[in-house]
Amino acid sequence: MNEINVAQNEPIFTISAAAQLLKISVHTLRMYEREGLFIPYKKKSNQRLFSKADIERIQCIRNAINESKISINGIKAIYSLIPCWDIVKCSEEERKNCGAFNGEHNPCWTYDHKNVCKERDCRSCEVYSKYSECCMIKELIKSISR
Ligand code: SF4
Ligand code: SF4
Repeated sequence: MNEINVAQNEPIFTISAAAQLLKISVHTLRMYEREGLFIPYKKKSNQRLFSKADIERIQCIRNAINESKISINGIKAIYSLIPCWDIVKCSEEERKNCGAFNGEHNPCWTYDHKNVCKERDCRSCEVYSKYSECCMIKELIKSISR
């Protein structure tokens, strides 16, 4: 990918530009979003915009699918292992009633929350923005397999 000289988290690329940078179709990008693999920045008009960090994240997902042969469900299952409860420090009661704590198939940000996470912005939450980055996922898997 060509060097993109913009702040890492600034959402500036339209969905068409993001698709072009990633060499995939807009349809595929939309499908990844529907599957909950990433959360785009949304303007009030609902237009999606992507930052350089978003594009790097999606490139990581593409590599996992194309090179490591991990399915979309596999990627979601890996994301679902991120211990959000430990990072956010939600209460025992909240996690007991939370699909993200009890399930093992979907990332926490794909649930319709009625708990502490209802008030939080997933895109800027470190569970999404930091712990689901490629390098952090690898560390997580290594720590689980130790
Ligand atoms: S999604 Fe939120 S409430 Fe649920 S377990 Fe994770 S941090 Fe706790
Ligand atoms: S705010 Fe969103 S990304 Fe962060 S822990 Fe809650 S559901 Fe997950």
